Amino acid sequence: MSDPRAQLPGVSSLLEVDEVAEVVRSDGHRVVADAVRGVLERARAMVGEGGDVPSTDQLVAEALARVAQQRNRRLRPVVNATGVLLHTNLGRAPLSATAIEAVVAAAGPTNLELDLATGERGGRGQVAHDALARLTGAPAALAVNNGAAALVLALTVFGAGREVLISRGEMVEIGGSFRLPEIMATAGCVLREVGTTNRTRVDDYRQAIVETTGALLRVHPSNYRIEGFTQRPTTVELAELAGAHGVAFIEDIGSGLLDGWPAGPEEPVAAQVLKDGAGLVVFSGDKLLGGPQAGILAGDAELVERCRRHPLARALRLDKLRLAALEATLAEYERGTREELPVWAMEVQDLEGLRERAEELAAATGGEVVPTEAVLGGGAAPGSRLASWGVVLAGDAEGLARRLRTGSPPVVARIVDDQVIVDLRSVPVELDEQLTAAVQAAVEGS
Ligand SMILES: *Cc1c(COP(=O)(O)O)cnc(C)c1O
Repeated sequence: MSDPRAQLPGVSSLLEVDEVAEVVRSDGHRVVADAVRGVLERARAMVGEGGDVPSTDQLVAEALARVAQQRNRRLRPVVNATGVLLHTNLGRAPLSATAIEAVVAAAGPTNLELDLATGERGGRGQVAHDALARLTGAPAALAVNNGAAALVLALTVFGAGREVLISRGEMVEIGGSFRLPEIMATAGCVLREVGTTNRTRVDDYRQAIVETTGALLRVHPSNYRIEGFTQRPTTVELAELAGAHGVAFIEDIGSGLLDGWPAGPEEPVAAQVLKDGAGLVVFSGDKLLGGPQAGILAGDAELVERCRRHPLARALRLDKLRLAALEATLAEYERGTREELPVWAMEVQDLEGLRERAEELAAATGGEVVPTEAVLGGGAAPGSRLASWGVVLAGDAEGLARRLRTGSPPVVARIVDDQVIVDLRSVPVELDEQLTAAVQAAVEGS
């Protein structure tokens, strides 16, 4: 008897089937041919083990599904119904409408490094840097790729080949790949830990300062809290100590609150930290600042200038799209309209409004309205909770969550006690209609 595998069609004949030829045009020959080869390989293996020979229709359907899966891996919009406002896996802060417009407008040729008035070369990022300086009260500021890059840059400039002092209570890890000791090593600093995990005094730093000390570093424990018998010197105390010994004092505040508005998140405030005497403050652009991924260094003009001039600054610089988004984000602060930034709009949403939205979603999808707790997330304000409302959906939680993720638009919910909860606080109100349709589809698919 002949080998049943010989009955399977070849790659080229499958590629000629009309529906397949169509996706070749939309997705490209390589992608589709890879999918077809994969499907045929699997079919050969299954037939070899005694399985039935699949029909051409089955093979085509499977190949098209593989291509669709590939297409769905591209970046696309999702609905964040996790209740985590700044979700790192979902891209942290959503951009404001004006920032999105600015990104689109800057996509073509733009006056990135050209002064249009004089026709001469202009300073890249100058508008954003000036705004950051005004908004934090700093003499100067510089924006680079992200918070980690800003810290590596500052530590390289002030600590490479020297000692950097940091409290044992601040040796943080922020999301897998960002670990303070490793960042220090990358920057070529000799890490000098002072104090203990729960208590560090200014005297611990004083006693550790030596000839080769390059900088004092204070890091905000963004994603955890040490409670109980604890002590940590203030920014003022460390600034005085650094000043008296002529070493740089860098404070990494993490989440990028520029000033005290709105009161609520117990997070360090850039303007205050600088007022208290830090030489440089470092923070992210896409956490509470509410802008694109970026890392900001703000503070003393000479310190910022030394960072700007370092060759690493060139390697870590921002592209025009993110500079455009950052400029537009900062313009909302300057206009006094920061509630236009989605992260703040979500943060200040009133609870009653959230409950009404949850009721509507529940009525349309057969879910049940429940009070929930949302969080800022993104390594900001550990332990702080935002009251919220959500909808619990009945049914197999894993299956339902998967159908939500693979729907259109994809919805990312959270699973608590084996139940799917759609939290409304992290969903911009203008997405409610899309959310409702996507949840209905996922629930009906069960
Ligand atoms: C988030 C965070 C960082 C890292 O910033 P990225 O922008 O994610 O690179 C550094 N330090 C602190 C304290 C943070 O909270």
